[in-house]
Amino acid sequence: MVSALSLTSQLAPAPTDWQAEVWRLLGEVNDPEIPILSIIDLGIVRYVRGASREALHVGLTPTYSGCPATEVIRRLVEEKLARAGFGRIVIETLLAPPWTSDWITPAARLKLAAYGIAPPVEAVSNPRRLFAAAPVGCPRCKSTKTRLISEFGSTPCKAHYMCAECLEPFDYFKCI
Ligand SMILES: [Zn+2]
Repeated sequence: MVSALSLTSQLAPAPTDWQAEVWRLLGEVNDPEIPILSIIDLGIVRYVRGASREALHVGLTPTYSGCPATEVIRRLVEEKLARAGFGRIVIETLLAPPWTSDWITPAARLKLAAYGIAPPVEAVSNPRRLFAAAPVGCPRCKSTKTRLISEFGSTPCKAHYMCAECLEPFDYFKCI
């Protein structure tokens, strides 16, 4: 016997549901440089608009201009949506307002720390940080006795740190 629930899930999404489907699919597109984070986690998807699943617009803001991942992300989004049966996908790049690390979701910050990358410590929108920068915590032992080794880590948006307590070297996702 087929339950009502499984019948419903087999039906094509109602027209009002296709945008939710796009958001769900975009949540499965991972950032090429930090594959544990999706582009939704990073906060770079600004909108999903359009008249139908045959004519949709996706607004993306690159994490920072010149980031080599930007073109790759565009292609991944197009491929993901095309495979799911969406047509005429227009990807719009939005440069203003510029992306900041403040847009990284709270859930994504926890994922970063669990992965061993210290998440941005402060809100870029907080002007106070220019005068008294908060210490970067070690993602392994939580100690704030850490020191900067290099302004550039494995990718330009990260810096390389070392923990003085547990001696763990780690990447820090910079406040940008
Ligand atoms: Zn440590």
